[in-house]
Amino acid sequence: MSDFNAVAFRQHFPFFVNQPAWVYLDNAATTHKPKAVLEATDHFYRTQNSNVHRGAHQLSQVATTLYEDARLAVKNYLNAADVAEIIFTSGTTAALNQLAFGLMHTVLKPGDRIVISALEHHANIVSWQLHCQRFGVIIDVIPLNADLQIDLDAYQKLLALSPKVVSLTQVSNTLGTILPLENMLREAKAAGAITVVDGAQGIAWQRPDVQQLAADFYCFSAHKLYGPTGIGVLYGKKALLEQLTPLQGGGEMIESVSFAGSHFNKLPARLEAGTPNIAGAIGLAAAIAFLSQFDAEQLKSYKRLLLKTFHDGLQQIPGIVLLSKLENNAGILTLNVAGEHPADLASLLNEQQIAVRAGLHCTMPLFELLEQPGAVRFAFAPYNLISEVEQCLTALAQAVEILAA
Ligand code: PMP
Repeated sequence: MSDFNAVAFRQHFPFFVNQPAWVYLDNAATTHKPKAVLEATDHFYRTQNSNVHRGAHQLSQVATTLYEDARLAVKNYLNAADVAEIIFTSGTTAALNQLAFGLMHTVLKPGDRIVISALEHHANIVSWQLHCQRFGVIIDVIPLNADLQIDLDAYQKLLALSPKVVSLTQVSNTLGTILPLENMLREAKAAGAITVVDGAQGIAWQRPDVQQLAADFYCFSAHKLYGPTGIGVLYGKKALLEQLTPLQGGGEMIESVSFAGSHFNKLPARLEAGTPNIAGAIGLAAAIAFLSQFDAEQLKSYKRLLLKTFHDGLQQIPGIVLLSKLENNAGILTLNVAGEHPADLASLLNEQQIAVRAGLHCTMPLFELLEQPGAVRFAFAPYNLISEVEQCLTALAQAVEILAA
């Protein structure tokens, strides 16, 4: 049993007071926001609103301090070596796109190889593909074994081809699979590759230690960590960030501009063009402070309990085709009802105010491998209650009966 008090944790989230009828199991898409985050962003807009780094006035200085304090909070949360290694972006997608653009324009040469896995979200596929043809760079994909885990033998063979970049998700957003990143990244570094982690899902499972993880780059979105939408982070080792060609120009990323050419600012400003999401950064810092009050291991084991309760209950429902495995899972179970379309199942659950996601989950190549038309995803967070899991199982059993009728 878990010592974690989910009822007390849930009380921090006003959504559940305002929408008591909803069972929200779409946490891999986005999480709800605790009061602390709502209040921090609201307080900024009501009493401190100003642009950063520009004004000579005191309000702007306050906004700048809050924004830079947020950067420091992220640096400490990730155990980065330097605040200049934290670049605020609009999210994981923006971070991966900046990274792919920057590496393609400077570090990568024609014939170079990038390794990704069969579990990647489109953001970690397409951001590289956008440039591959023009720059002559090749993408290799680590396949899955029969257990739908990363095929580590195949990975070794791809590393033997000396890839320049290995870019992997920490957790599959579709299946919930946790990748064995510690070893995989260490091996990638030993093979001479730059390592990239798509932490969009992983950030809500495990607080990353980017130095221990041998991650040269780590990307995540605040909205999957109880923070606001529209703000995310590109962490990178300073020497590597300095090599990235900026994807966007303008604003504070400039040191000097003439019509003949421009000189870029120092990090982190160099990669943050335009007015940043100041309130978002403040909200992210508030989310980190909120989360830091809780025992990370307790949150994890409670999520495992939710997952196991759901998984065990599914065994009693006929016709369920479970795609996810219980082992090595960060809190996501994805399934189908044999012979039925996932959208029909999700729609029946929606009628019972159970929020789940149906479709391809931005992982079309994975569904091609799975030979499934899509699937319904149940993604748990520590504010979910065991009673909600039971409610969901009952609704699911009823939906299966309706679909079969
Ligand atoms: N990678 C993974 C593994 C994801 O789950 C997501 C969000 N679904 C993303 C990248 C993209 O994140 P965002 O939409 O916040 O940019």
